[in-house]
Amino acid sequence: MDAIVALAKRRGFIFQSSEIYGGFNGFFDYGPLGSELKKNIRDCWWNDMVRRRDDVVGIETSIIMHPKVWEASGHVAGFTDPLVDCKVSKQRYRADQLFFAKVVVDGNTVGYVSALESEKTAEDLQSAAETLKRKKAIQGALAPVQPKDFTEAQPEEIALIPSPATGEPGSLTAPRSFNMMFQTNVGAMTDASSVAYLRPETAQGMFVDFKNVLDTGRVKLPFGIAQIGKSFRNEITPRNFIFRSREFEQMEMEYFISEDADWKASHDEWIEWCRQWLLSIGLPESHLSLYAHPKEKLAFYSKGTVDIMFKYPFGVQELWGIAARGNYDLTQHATASGKPMEYFEEATKKKFVPHVIEPAVGVDRILLAVLCAGYAEEDVKDEKGNVEKRTVLRLSPRIAPVKVAVLPLLKNKEALVGRARELYKKLQRRYAVFYDEAGAIGRRYRRQDEIGTPWCVTIDFDTVEKDGSFTLRERDSMTQKRINEAELFALLEEKVY
Ligand code: ATP
Repeated sequence: MDAIVALAKRRGFIFQSSEIYGGFNGFFDYGPLGSELKKNIRDCWWNDMVRRRDDVVGIETSIIMHPKVWEASGHVAGFTDPLVDCKVSKQRYRADQLFFAKVVVDGNTVGYVSALESEKTAEDLQSAAETLKRKKAIQGALAPVQPKDFTEAQPEEIALIPSPATGEPGSLTAPRSFNMMFQTNVGAMTDASSVAYLRPETAQGMFVDFKNVLDTGRVKLPFGIAQIGKSFRNEITPRNFIFRSREFEQMEMEYFISEDADWKASHDEWIEWCRQWLLSIGLPESHLSLYAHPKEKLAFYSKGTVDIMFKYPFGVQELWGIAARGNYDLTQHATASGKPMEYFEEATKKKFVPHVIEPAVGVDRILLAVLCAGYAEEDVKDEKGNVEKRTVLRLSPRIAPVKVAVLPLLKNKEALVGRARELYKKLQRRYAVFYDEAGAIGRRYRRQDEIGTPWCVTIDFDTVEKDGSFTLRERDSMTQKRINEAELFALLEEKVY
């Protein structure tokens, strides 16, 4: 992760927000290359999800909505995380990310240990247990620890569990519900009547506008409404770089189906669609897995949720959630607003509130996944046969921030520079391209490798004196071949879509 974070900063992908003021925890800025990469991810999703499908339409709804939306959706009452305070260190923890275990020697409980959630929580707890036993000089057999999260702590145990910040028991509070919505005030008054929220998800926009789209969009069940936009959550512990932040971007789609439809089949289709889409932007299959939420942990209205998980360097984590939500959301808004949310089905002459399948993903989490999967440091041989290190970002041409770099072999030869700039300008009308004439050609290739540019073209004397062809150098294989302008455009047409 450190290498990826360093590259992201060094090459202008991602900066800390407000860095000159010391940064602001949970907020990030995207630099010149990062904003291109992010835009490409958004555009690919929008093209594949909305434009290239006949059954999905797109919308863009406001970030601040009527506060009643969030009452009806259940967010005011229930969009909470369990919060634990350490009264001594003033640190705050999410109870479900704070783990503890009894230390049991020869069947007797001799104390407690705690650790924050990580790839090796159980190992951390075990070694903390061994340390405690040694410190207390207790003889006997230490039992393997049984990790539990803090939401499972019994009231009498809370005072005995050490704070991860201080290592001492007695300072942790019992978990309490913490609402993650950011509040603001709308209008000149700042009293209870003007309270509004920054949306914690984009999905409610689709439910609230369901009737508008139905009445104006020439849509018939089954159909989807999609949206891309910023969401805000006051996460207790933002962490893992841009994986969990307080301001992030979501791409969500609500796929409405008949109440009699086979929801399971539709759910399965969407899980597979999402998986295929991730492969299409270059994520390796080996890093993806599915996690079905256990029935007993689902909300009462939910029929099933499957997450597509990604193997990040800090562990296997949720990337994309695909939930079958029944008709809960539309019914809630119909009841709260008094406006019917029914669909009239011609064929059966039946009226009903449609059910929904919801694939919801974060743009930032995808961006982090492609950086993690694409990053590599390799030993390669230079032109003279010497071994050197190259850093390469293997990004799919679909999302790479720069598609082609145009390089004149020498910068002081007018003919080469002129032809290179001409090609550069021509490519620029359709693609994000980069022109670079500074330094040895090998160094210029390396610079492009590091930012994930799939191809470089080098204009040399043969280009201007012979048939006009130039060298195409491929990032991953580092192979070179001669091609002409028409072939270059055909290659881009095929690979960048
Ligand atoms: P988590 O359990 O990780 O907090 P969630 O299950 O609450 O996530 P959803 O409400 O299902 O997440 O949101 C849909 C998607 O939005 C997630 O799969 C994730 O890609 C993205 N997302 C959610 N919270 C954040 C966040 N704080 N930062 C970045 N992306 C997020």
